[in-house]
Amino acid sequence: MSVLEIRGLRAAAAGVEILRGVDLTIASGEVHAVMGPNGSGKSTLSHVLAGKPGYTVLGGTVTLDGVDVFALPAWKRAQAGLFLAMQYPIEVPGVSVESLLVEARRAAGGDVEGVAAAVVAEAARIGLDPVLLERSLNVDLSGGEKKRNEMLQLAVLAPKIAILDEIDSGLDIDALRAVARRVQEATVESSLGVLAITHYNRLLEELRPDHTHILAKGLIVASGGPELADQVEAEGYAAFLPAEAA
Ligand code: ADP
Ligand code: MG
Repeated sequence: MSVLEIRGLRAAAAGVEILRGVDLTIASGEVHAVMGPNGSGKSTLSHVLAGKPGYTVLGGTVTLDGVDVFALPAWKRAQAGLFLAMQYPIEVPGVSVESLLVEARRAAGGDVEGVAAAVVAEAARIGLDPVLLERSLNVDLSGGEKKRNEMLQLAVLAPKIAILDEIDSGLDIDALRAVARRVQEATVESSLGVLAITHYNRLLEELRPDHTHILAKGLIVASGGPELADQVEAEGYAAFLPAEAA
């Protein structure tokens, strides 16, 4: 059982406070959806958790199983079991997905023996053409193929907690279903805990959240169950916005 605990998180980018006190607790096997209007700080939250440069933590704490996440460089956060699926996966010429995963496993002191077979098996499961496994990471892949590739990496690495920043953006309905379903299965098969950041309910039809949170102007302004995502879909965000923002 793992727990990612975010307490009173405040963070700034370019000298402007963007996250103004965020509290979230994500445990193994749970799916938390974070929804919110553009510019509310959703990507900032995922970037700060992953350790992307350019952000200043102003206050609060983040722990993974009691370990201070901010004391770790980004690569150690990954080793500790935190996975960030990027909104725009980067292309890495000269590095195949298999060699990336072999090195990641090796760096974590794990057994690299089964990685090649796991890559092939996961490609079949997520519907990624095995021919694409020969390519450099994400190079010349379509948007949908890149996201399937991200899910393949998530499945092989089997992290404790995954942060998915708008994995639905730019996906057609088939890719969206495949990706959402694979994440849902990981919550059952390997007790993955998920923080799924999304604008839309589409993703959440397959990846049903246990908890839904609305982030507006850097604050969680509402929390509820899956029905909250349905309410947002039907009514928009206006009812949830703080008075100053409405
Ligand atoms: P969301 O993902 O919810 O749309 P973001 O976290 O991307 O929101 O952005 C929240 C606010 O922070 C926006 O006003 C955005 O312009 C600003 N912001 C985010 N990252 C940076 C940055 N690196 N430098 C300056 N401003 C930033
Ligand atoms: Mg964003």
